[in-house]
Amino acid sequence: KNILKIRNLVKQYDNSQNVILKGIDLDLNEEDFLCILGPSGCGKSTMIRCIAGFEGYEGTIEVSGEKVTKPGPDRIMVFQDFNQLFPWKTVLGNITYPLKVGGMKDKEERKKRAEKYLDKVNLLQYKDYYPHQLSGGMKQRVAIAKGLALGSKIILMDEPFASLDAMTRNKMQSELLHIKEKEKMTVIFITHNIQEAISLGNKIMVMSKNGTIKEKMDNPISKPV
Ligand code: ADP
Ligand code: ADP
Repeated sequence: KNILKIRNLVKQYDNSQNVILKGIDLDLNEEDFLCILGPSGCGKSTMIRCIAGFEGYEGTIEVSGEKVTKPGPDRIMVFQDFNQLFPWKTVLGNITYPLKVGGMKDKEERKKRAEKYLDKVNLLQYKDYYPHQLSGGMKQRVAIAKGLALGSKIILMDEPFASLDAMTRNKMQSELLHIKEKEKMTVIFITHNIQEAISLGNKIMVMSKNGTIKEKMDNPISKPV
C-alpha cells in the first residue's frame, strides 16, 4: 500500500539562484526501506527535509494521501549528531513530553505509552537516565521510540551511522532492521556507503549531481517486503 507519493518535486532555497531538486518523482509502499545514494551536495538532505516538512517546496509530496505542509507526527527524522533529545529531561520525559504537547491529557497513559515503546527499543531499564548518560546509539533509539509513540510510520534518517566505527555501525544496522521489521515502519535512509545501502534497503535510489534521479532500483539481494 502506497505511503509516500512525490511528483515533480522542485526545490530552490530562497537565498540562492540554484535549483537544488529538479523534478523528483518517487513512490514508496508501506514497509519499504529506501536507501538514497549520490554525490555530496546533490540534494539528498534537502529532499528528506522536504519530506519531513522542514522546507517549503514546489510539486507534490503526499504521505498517506495527505499533502505535506509542515512537520507531523506521522514522520520522524532521526539525526546523525544524536542531539535530538531534551538534555534536561529523562529518557521517559523525552517521550511523555511530546505526547503531552500532542494532546494526550492523562499522565498515567502518557507514561504507559512511553514505557511500551521504550521496551520495544530495549531501553526500558534506562527510562530514568538523562540523555548524556546514554551512548549515541541509545539516544537514536530513544528518538525512534519517541517517533513510534507519536504514531510515526515513516522514519527519515540522514547518514545516521556515518561517524560510527564499523562494529558499532553493524550493531546499529541490525538494531534498526529489527525495530523496522517489528514495527512495520517505512524507512528513508541517506548514506554514502554503497555496502550499507545494499545491506539495508529493499529499494535504492541514486541521485545525480544536478538534482535529478539517476537511477531507481529494487535491491535484488534484499528479501521482499
Ligand atoms: P546532500 O545531502 O546530497 O549532500 P544537500 O541537500 O545538503 O545535499 O545540499 C544540496 C545543495 O543545497 C548544496 O549545494 C547546498 O549548498 C545547498 N543548500 C543546502 N541547504 C541550504 C540552505 N539552507 N540554503 C541554501 N542552500 C542550501
Ligand atoms: P509532567 O506532567 O509532570 O510535566 P511529563 O508527563 O511531561 O510530566 O513527564 C513525565 C516524566 O518525565 C517525569 O516523571 C520525569 O521523570 C520526566 N521529566 C519531565 N520533565 C522533566 C524535567 N524538566 N527534568 C527531568 N525530568 C523530567
